[in-house]
Amino acid sequence: MQILKGYVFRLYPNKEQAELINKTIGCCRFIYNYFLDDKIKEYKETGKSKSAYDQIKLIPSLSKEKPWLKEVDSCALRNSIFNLEDAYKRFYDGSGYPKFKAKSVHESYKTNNIKNSYKGNNYNSIKLDLKNKTITLPKLKEVKIRGYRNRKVMLGEIKSAVVKKDAGKYYVSVLIEEELIRPSFVPTSIIGIDLGIKDLIVTSYNEKIENTIKLNTKRMVGLQKGLSRCKKGSKNRYKMRLKIQRLYQKIRNARKHMIHDITNKLINENDIIVTESLDVKSMQKNHYVAKGLNENPISEIIRVLKYKANWNNKKLIQIDRYYPSSQICNVCDYQNKKVKDLKLRNWECPNCHTKHNRDYNAAVNIMFKGLEKYMKGIEQCI
Ligand SMILES: [Zn+2]
Repeated sequence: MQILKGYVFRLYPNKEQAELINKTIGCCRFIYNYFLDDKIKEYKETGKSKSAYDQIKLIPSLSKEKPWLKEVDSCALRNSIFNLEDAYKRFYDGSGYPKFKAKSVHESYKTNNIKNSYKGNNYNSIKLDLKNKTITLPKLKEVKIRGYRNRKVMLGEIKSAVVKKDAGKYYVSVLIEEELIRPSFVPTSIIGIDLGIKDLIVTSYNEKIENTIKLNTKRMVGLQKGLSRCKKGSKNRYKMRLKIQRLYQKIRNARKHMIHDITNKLINENDIIVTESLDVKSMQKNHYVAKGLNENPISEIIRVLKYKANWNNKKLIQIDRYYPSSQICNVCDYQNKKVKDLKLRNWECPNCHTKHNRDYNAAVNIMFKGLEKYMKGIEQCI
C-alpha cells in the first residue's frame, strides 16, 4: 500500500534565501489576487471565466510586464492559481466567495518535485539530505534544516514541499509517498479508553493521562490588552502581534507533541483500541471554546489514532455513544441510573457492592463492548 506522509522541518535560510522566500510568498499572493481580479472582471463582462490551465498559460506574458515574477520559483506561481481554483470549488460547495489575500503573519507557498532525466542521470527539483541536514529547493538551492534527528534517510518519493513562514520563523513540510508494509493482524491485546476533559484519558488498565496543556490565560488576556493599546500600524503593534502569534504557536506545538505521545503509546502497546464515538460538538461548547481554544484535543486524538491504527495494522473500534458505559457495573452488569449525574465520581454497586471509580469502570465496559463488536465481526466473516 502506498501512503502519503508529511514531514515538517524547521528551515534556516541565510539572509538572501530568506529574502527570496519572502519574495516568492509575495509573488504568489500577487498572482492569486491578479487572477482573482481577472476572473471577477471577465465574469462580469462575459458571464464566463478562464480555467486554471488557461490562466497558467498567461504567466509568461505577465512576467514580461513584471520581470520580478521571473526571479521566483515558477512552480509556486502555478500552484497559486490552483489554490485559487480550490477556493472557487469551496465556494461552489457552499463556502464564502474567494477573498483577496492580504499580507499576514503565517503565509506559505507550495512547490512540486519535478523529475528530469538527462543522459541517463535523474534529477529532482527537491532533494532531502538528512546526513548534511539540508534541503534543496527550486531557486533557493541548499537550505539548512533541523528535525528528525534519528532518521538518516527517508525512503520513498518526494512529491511536493510547502515553505511556510509562521510568526517570523521558517518551516518546510515535505510530502513523501512511501510504501507501507503492514504486518498481518493477530491481536493479542485490547484496551478500552474513556475520553474526558480533566483526565483526557482513563484506560481499562486504570491508567490516567492528564491534559498537560496549561493555558496561560492571564498572559493571553494581558497581551490582547497590550495590543489594543498600541496605535494601529505602529511598530509596537506589530511586535505585540508577533508575541501573541508566538504564544499561540507554542501552545499549538505543545498540543501536537502531547497528542503524538499519547497516540504512539496507545498504538505501540495495544492491538485493539476501543473508544466511544463522541458528540464532540457538544463537548467543545462546554469547555474549549470558552477558553478561546476552539480545537478539542479529543477529536484530534481520535483522528490521529485512526490513521496510526491503519498504518500499523492495529484496530480502532468505536462503540455507540449512547451505550451507558458509566452506569453499568462491570462486575455484575447491573445498571445504576444514579450515575447519570456527572458529579458522581465514585459509586458502589447496589447489587454486588463493588466500589467503582466512574471513569475506570466506564473504560472497562468500553473495552468489553469493543471486544464483543470485534468477535461479532469475526463471526460474520466466517
Ligand atoms: Zn455490580
